[in-house]
Amino acid sequence: MISTQTLVFWLLFLTFVGTFAAQVARRVQLIAAAPNTFSVENVPFRGKRFLRDVVLQVRTIRERPAAGLMHAFVFWGFVAFAGYTAVEFLYGLGIVDLTRTRVFGAYRILLVPFAVAVLVGITFLLIRRAVVRPIALGAHVSAESIVIGLLISALMVTFLLTFVLPEGSSAAHVNWWTHALVILAFLALIPASKHFHLVLSPITVFLKSPELGNLPNLDFEKEQVGLETVKDLGSKMVLDAFTCVECGRCQVNCPAWGAGKELNPKAIVLQTQDALLAGERDRKLGDVYTEKVLWQCTTCGACENQCPVGIEHLPILIGARRGLVSNGDAPAYLGSMYNNLERRRNIWGLGYDQRARFVQAAGLETFDPTKHDVLVWLGCAGSFDADFQKSLRALFDILRARGVTFGVLAKERCNGDPAKRTGNEYMYQELATANIEDLKAAAPKRILTSCPHCVKTIGSDYRKFGYDVEVVHSSVFVEELTRDARARPDGDGAVTFHDPCYLGRYGGRVDEPRALIARFGGEIKEPVRNRDNPYCCGAGGGLLFADKEEEPGSRISDVRFKQLRDTGANTVVTACPFCSIMLKGAQASAGADTQFVDLMTFVKDRL
Ligand code: SF4
Ligand code: SF4
Repeated sequence: MISTQTLVFWLLFLTFVGTFAAQVARRVQLIAAAPNTFSVENVPFRGKRFLRDVVLQVRTIRERPAAGLMHAFVFWGFVAFAGYTAVEFLYGLGIVDLTRTRVFGAYRILLVPFAVAVLVGITFLLIRRAVVRPIALGAHVSAESIVIGLLISALMVTFLLTFVLPEGSSAAHVNWWTHALVILAFLALIPASKHFHLVLSPITVFLKSPELGNLPNLDFEKEQVGLETVKDLGSKMVLDAFTCVECGRCQVNCPAWGAGKELNPKAIVLQTQDALLAGERDRKLGDVYTEKVLWQCTTCGACENQCPVGIEHLPILIGARRGLVSNGDAPAYLGSMYNNLERRRNIWGLGYDQRARFVQAAGLETFDPTKHDVLVWLGCAGSFDADFQKSLRALFDILRARGVTFGVLAKERCNGDPAKRTGNEYMYQELATANIEDLKAAAPKRILTSCPHCVKTIGSDYRKFGYDVEVVHSSVFVEELTRDARARPDGDGAVTFHDPCYLGRYGGRVDEPRALIARFGGEIKEPVRNRDNPYCCGAGGGLLFADKEEEPGSRISDVRFKQLRDTGANTVVTACPFCSIMLKGAQASAGADTQFVDLMTFVKDRL
């Protein structure tokens, strides 16, 4: 015979779990209705990342050590309490009573330090949210977050009281019911709140692409044109929208937001969520986010890289750009750049006779795999930018001094990066496939380039066309080549190094440039935002070509230049032609006397 207490518990359980299930079902329905973009290739990598970012909470702790650790306490506590909750609910539902077993008794005792840690963690987080209120969390103190925080505290307090209250007493009885009701209330509240990340983030982190800024090629034969309306958003994007914990890490790391632009990657995710829940399937994405905002992204990848719950912003931002470009809605400055790519196959619209003159003047041979160790890819900057050509000449001198044989392609065209990141997929695919044809004919085993965008595009993006070759940045190649060089006893004094986003963040190459600078006498003064989380120079995503006078807020390059100057070093070492152009522009507007030196020139002058 079922007791009244068990019956009441069943009724409450079904009501609250039903509420939870209905809300979850609505979100699952939206995910299932979206075009399937889930992918699980490279399980070992995903498994390791899951262990690091979900189980060990490394990403959460890394950027905000105190708040991150407190969050980790709460998370680990939740996991530890899962078995306790299950046993208590099995008891409450009258299914089986395991509460009196020895194992459960020992488990309860083991939970005490977890309960204390959760209480400490949640108190810290509540004070931070309600009193300290850091800008990343938003100006508004959400009542829901406070309620959830108080519910978590109540759970821990009621658990600890079970050790104090006499077994079988009325107080113990009330305490048991309070604990159970708080869990049920919590369950009903979380799907409609940012705390739903508790359920979704392990899945989202696992499903996040192993590649930062992963942009699958569009299939024109299937008439894919990019993202135009809400219903075009893929299943991973929809899952992402419901996973956001609103921590603002993406926002505070976004260089566009930091320089006062309208773009805020956190807002992009939350606007996606709102549009999905409002059922606005046919609403244009240019309207959901505004077109202006979509063109402010430099594609630096900071948002996606810093997000602790596996959200990928770039597929949405560039996917929506693709949709705009396919409808002829790109800004005018991009129209000129596309014309240059269309007519002359390079971003500046210059004649390739200029490249030929440089190739001849620098004594470069046409690559021959039987004769040369590496193929040097010049890129648009190497072909046409006189300043960058000085740096390439320094690279050639180093290679010759170390006996490395090298050649270049008889002809090159832009690798397609500016077209791809601005959403002109058709142009990108035209350039990429033509380059791949030439590269396959030349058959290099290794490609060497001084442009991080060429490393990323040829070395990583071209794999999506089946072309897989090792592409090395000159900093990595030369670091390996000069390991036997004698360190200069007389240092050059303080220099600062600006990590290019496409080398440091996308490529993870942060040690080699520093090793070279140190080896050749430089003492590095690190700027804020360095290594794999640099502050962008402002050139990426086609913004190299934007009309600076029309920019809202400050220029991203000005903000970065100030950060570099604040190190006190008077020399800035760069390792990307576009960073160099942007930062020199910022130096000119600041009227500063800072020296710029490209990494290869720095090495060659001291070798
Ligand atoms: S990629 Fe960079 S610029 Fe674009 S939204 Fe993310 S952080 Fe901001
Ligand atoms: S997208 Fe990620 S980093 Fe940005 S607010 Fe949401 S959870 Fe935080």
